[in-house]
Amino acid sequence: MKVGVLGAGQLARMIALAGIPLGVEFIFLDPSKDACASGLGQHLLGDYNDPRLLAALAESADVVTYEFENVPADVAAFLAAHTQVHPAPKALAVAQDRLVEKNFFNDLGIATPAYQAVDSLAELEQAMAVIGWPAIIKSRTMGYDGKGQSLLKSPADLPQAWALLAGAPAIVEAFVPFDREVSIIAARSVSGAVVYYPLSENQHRGGILRVSESRAGDGMQPAAEAAILRLMEALDYVGVLALELFEVNGALIANEFAPRVHNSGHWTIEGAETSQFENHVRAVLDLPLGATTAVGKAAMVNFIGGLPDTAALLAIPHAHCHLYGKEPRKGRKVAHATLRTETSAELHTALAQLVALADAVDDS
Ligand code: AMP
Repeated sequence: MKVGVLGAGQLARMIALAGIPLGVEFIFLDPSKDACASGLGQHLLGDYNDPRLLAALAESADVVTYEFENVPADVAAFLAAHTQVHPAPKALAVAQDRLVEKNFFNDLGIATPAYQAVDSLAELEQAMAVIGWPAIIKSRTMGYDGKGQSLLKSPADLPQAWALLAGAPAIVEAFVPFDREVSIIAARSVSGAVVYYPLSENQHRGGILRVSESRAGDGMQPAAEAAILRLMEALDYVGVLALELFEVNGALIANEFAPRVHNSGHWTIEGAETSQFENHVRAVLDLPLGATTAVGKAAMVNFIGGLPDTAALLAIPHAHCHLYGKEPRKGRKVAHATLRTETSAELHTALAQLVALADAVDDS
């Protein structure tokens, strides 16, 4: 069996590292010569929309998947016409546009912050009368890790925030005074079997995920599972899906979903019986899904912009090191570390050490 992956970054690499022991082969399409998954399979080097390479990918792979959601619609459609593509292009189309995505949530009865599409400064000014302060303006497309976003605290912020978007279509949404951010990750196979991971509790800095902690037995788990199941069924979804949520006053409000394996699920490599990466491979190949049961307490810390000292990291009790083989660059995720312990006390002691190590190299 051969899985084709659009993209050969760290997510593709971790998918391959999980799939190879199952006897699965990989072929990647990625424009970067030193893409970090390239050693784990065949690497088609070139643009994502090169018809010759897409045809080669579709020809060689039994199923094609992707590690990022900004796959151009025509690329996804071309592949779907020639081979199995999971998740299906519809999930990409919804996830790529924040307005379409929020409308989709609302149609499914999944709560979101109040929001409005804005296409001019005048529309933004009018919308603020409805949305209220503070608010966040976000570009509708190509936004990730907080990019293309501005916080709006008063009318004086509007002209600059609008200018930063450089004419890109946008939505403005109410700022949610959340008690915490969580995400739910689930996998659905071609046959429709579904498994859910324990909730991840997430901390961001500057819009980028810093720390995720596994929250097995969390009181919000049933509500999060109900929301993601609705989403998966409406999209006839196959693969791993991540839904990011705000918790406020005991209720969940959807922020966005990612139609792929997700950074907030990296702790599943050591902290769950079957990792999100292995279950993604199983799901797209219609193999039986693996148990998602938490194994002890787990957390993950991202290294952004700078690599950890491996020996110092491994000296932290219960730490597991995952370097991506990427050159450090400002704001770039280059590694993560997972902790898995028996008790919460052990977890939090080690987590404080790991966060200090990450802070020392962080350039964000
Ligand atoms: P996003 O790119 O939409 O995932 O946003 C990145 C991060 O910005 C989120 O994880 C939150 O920490 C914060 N954020 C985004 N939207 C909101 C909102 N409406 N209210 C409060 N915080 C938000």
